[in-house]
Amino acid sequence: MEIANKPQKQTFIKCKKCGDEIFGDTKKKMTYCQCKSIAVDGCDDYVRVNGDKENYEIIDK
Ligand SMILES: [Zn+2]
Repeated sequence: MEIANKPQKQTFIKCKKCGDEIFGDTKKKMTYCQCKSIAVDGCDDYVRVNGDKENYEIIDK
């Protein structure tokens, strides 16, 4: 039996250009940062980031 108490890691994707932080779980909705350099598309299982790797960093809080 699995205990439903696993720690939930919160992943944020930070745009280095505008400083915007987007929560990784966007409910599969494409979400852009303020300057639109990056776009995040994610859910519980995965996080996809569209954009130049140099323009963003992954932050686990
Ligand atoms: Zn940006």
